[in-house]
Amino acid sequence: MKWLILLILFGAVAAIIAMRYRRQIQTALYVWRMFKKMRQVNNTKEKKIERKETTGDVQLISCAKCETWIPQKNALKLRSKTFFCSANCMEKAVEVN
Ligand SMILES: [Zn+2]
Repeated sequence: MKWLILLILFGAVAAIIAMRYRRQIQTALYVWRMFKKMRQVNNTKEKKIERKETTGDVQLISCAKCETWIPQKNALKLRSKTFFCSANCMEKAVEVN
């Protein structure tokens, strides 16, 4: 019973506040919605940028011989973690070894 009275009281107070500050609440809701929309736009923008970065991302590796930085897809791979910029470098490295 006590809870019911409290609930009704709370409801009444909320109703009074809502009626009194209806305009303010409407404005606040409007602003909040705008803010939410803006955030959504930002999120989609960020996602687009992220996608661009991942697709345009080229992993650079350094040549084991001359230490030139080149894209991994252009590198010549020897064993698992040794990369060379060209066949020349690879040959030189093999000769030394
Ligand atoms: Zn090289």
